[in-house]
Amino acid sequence: MLKRYTTAENGKTKLLSLIYTQDEHKIDNKLIDKDAYSVLDTLNANGYEAYVVGGAVRDLLIGCKPKDFDIVTEATPRTVRRLFRNSRIIGRRFRLVHVVFPDQIIEVSTFRSEDATDSENNIFGTLTEDAQRRDFTINSLYYNPSNSRLLDFHGGFNDLNNRILRAVIPIDVSFTGDPIRMIRAVKYAVKCSLEIDSEIKGAFYKYSKELTKVSESRMVEEVNKILLSGHSLEILKRLDKYDLLIFIMPRISEEIMRKNAHLNNDLKELDKAIQSGIQVTPSDAYAALMSFIINKKEVEKLEINDRLSYVMQLLHKALRPLGIPWKILIEAGAKILETKNIEFLKVSKNYDKQNTEIQKAKKAIKALTSNIVKNM
Ligand code: ATP
Ligand code: MG
Repeated sequence: MLKRYTTAENGKTKLLSLIYTQDEHKIDNKLIDKDAYSVLDTLNANGYEAYVVGGAVRDLLIGCKPKDFDIVTEATPRTVRRLFRNSRIIGRRFRLVHVVFPDQIIEVSTFRSEDATDSENNIFGTLTEDAQRRDFTINSLYYNPSNSRLLDFHGGFNDLNNRILRAVIPIDVSFTGDPIRMIRAVKYAVKCSLEIDSEIKGAFYKYSKELTKVSESRMVEEVNKILLSGHSLEILKRLDKYDLLIFIMPRISEEIMRKNAHLNNDLKELDKAIQSGIQVTPSDAYAALMSFIINKKEVEKLEINDRLSYVMQLLHKALRPLGIPWKILIEAGAKILETKNIEFLKVSKNYDKQNTEIQKAKKAIKALTSNIVKNM
């Protein structure tokens, strides 16, 4: 292990990062995706520092094949855009670049100095600053496959080996600065079998209400990840244990407390399918999550062309305050009806805003008196 030092403001020498070599971290470079490799190569060849970061490094260290590769670099988005013909700049304020390949998109972001959520003041920074703004030490590891060096600024390598979850900055600052990190903490603890220390657990109870401040889209994104993680049941149970789930999906929290066997089974099946490598879409996952709520006899009392709208309304209501996109709601509703062998009027697969069938379904949701739901 090598050590990199820097000079602190007081003039003293300070440890900056640890550098682990191949014989220590034992990352198998063959597990690195060829497209991610080519992006790193091009950046390096043009003189820009670039690394794999985040979930992919964690997975590589535990010997799993990563599902996606996030890349960070010192090159600005504009430069990255110029280097890759098959790329586009995305994001309104903080811009990152999507490099598009036939089978996937590789996300390339520029080292950032400000907190991830403070996008108004987002400015590009150094690698050290980028490492400082990441949530947990295990997510603050940078890997460069061209020299097989692993850069560790906050002790994440040892934490991962010792199966400990630790925040990069003080936990109160971390969770109040961005409450979604509480959900992420639980997700990582379950996915990577990490011990959550008592300080973090205490902070969950203290700051759980802060979750109401998280934007709908970020919340949905995190819930989607949980449902597609292959560990959804365990993660949801743990989120409930720490009083977090009630602020994410209160109805699911209620059912988990009641030990709803239907829900339990469906999530187990979902996790099994994902772990066995079956491709599962977000709407499949929401169908699995919500199937318990649909009572076949009740639905069959309705006219065939009212059934899907009715199911969508139930899902919408049960998942509140989570705002699930219409497309997912429609697909999940249709899947539940299909699995339960309930006849219904299908909507076309064309989900644009002008689609009259979708408009009809949306109107129906609003128009259907809440009586039906209340009486369930
Ligand atoms: P997953 O396997 O669920 O994708 P991940 O760790 O890759 O896990 P992402 O949401 O893809 O998570 O984010 C990539 C990286 O960006 C994280 O590993 C972390 O370093 C950083 N990051 C993401 N969200 C936050 C956040 N809210 N606060 C601080 N850092 C974050
Ligand atoms: Mg990721």
